[in-house]
Amino acid sequence: MRTSKAVSYLLSAILLFGLFSCKEQTKEVGSYQTVATVGMIADVVRQIAGDKTEVEGLIGEGVDPHLYKPTGSDVKKLQSADIVFYNGLMLEGKMGDVLVRVATSGKPVHAVTEAILKSDDYVISDEEDHYDPHVWMDVSGWIKASQVIGDSLAAHDPANIDYYENNTYSYIQKLNKLDDYARTSIASIPEGQRVLVTAHDAFSYLGRAYGLEVRGIQGLSTESEAGLKDISDLVSFLVEKKIPAVFIESSVSQKNIKALVEGARAKGHEVKIGGELFSDAMGPAGSYEGTYIGMIDHNITTITNALGGKAPEKGLNGQLTPH
Ligand code: ZN
Repeated sequence: MRTSKAVSYLLSAILLFGLFSCKEQTKEVGSYQTVATVGMIADVVRQIAGDKTEVEGLIGEGVDPHLYKPTGSDVKKLQSADIVFYNGLMLEGKMGDVLVRVATSGKPVHAVTEAILKSDDYVISDEEDHYDPHVWMDVSGWIKASQVIGDSLAAHDPANIDYYENNTYSYIQKLNKLDDYARTSIASIPEGQRVLVTAHDAFSYLGRAYGLEVRGIQGLSTESEAGLKDISDLVSFLVEKKIPAVFIESSVSQKNIKALVEGARAKGHEVKIGGELFSDAMGPAGSYEGTYIGMIDHNITTITNALGGKAPEKGLNGQLTPH
């Protein structure tokens, strides 16, 4: 028994060594291509993979992923990628067919929400049983997604497994700090004003994680139109609860939010636009708000200060652009 165990360890060590040395010969720095659908995923891949891979995000700043149709060049990028990450839970509603085609070609294609979906009661659904895809709004949800990304990169490029594991660990440490910041900041808002009104239902995970009541004019996807009744119901709610601010989103039209402000004014309640939130897309590439941490820091800081709580103007890391 002992001997055979020792032999099998030795064998696997040889096999692993063989695998590693072979990979080291064929894989150079940045020698494989990663394609991600949304920026939030592309950013996590960059944080974890550093210069080991070249990362391309398909859906850019200010673009709505619910409505995004892949272009011919996107399809080519997906086909020539070595590894692909997407959110899943139907966020990329119009990309499903292409992703399935790419996956059946044998390429590693990973939904970063696969671990979340396995933990039964984490995923939020609406009355029609549509999954809410916006899991990045709760930092603990995105920690699970980051772990999936780290594990998948390590499996794809095992020669650098330690590198990916260390980077995943230190990135998750930063996310834990962000999670704490979000919880403390939102808790500083006076209790009756912990209400977040936005253009579409992208913030339910945020609300559940940090203690905010969330109301969106449109549903989980921006595909459906908001009705007049939805808007007049929300106006009454704002007036009744004396909510001081509502929020616009960088990737969704401001039309409905402006109708809310007008409606409340007509009933004698002045509600201001508390700022622009990043719901389904990040800020400009190369800026702090163009990273996942910067995006969430911006949202939490903006919401907290507009609803009467206390958060530093430049946010958790002192890097936000003041407005
Ligand atoms: Zn959305």
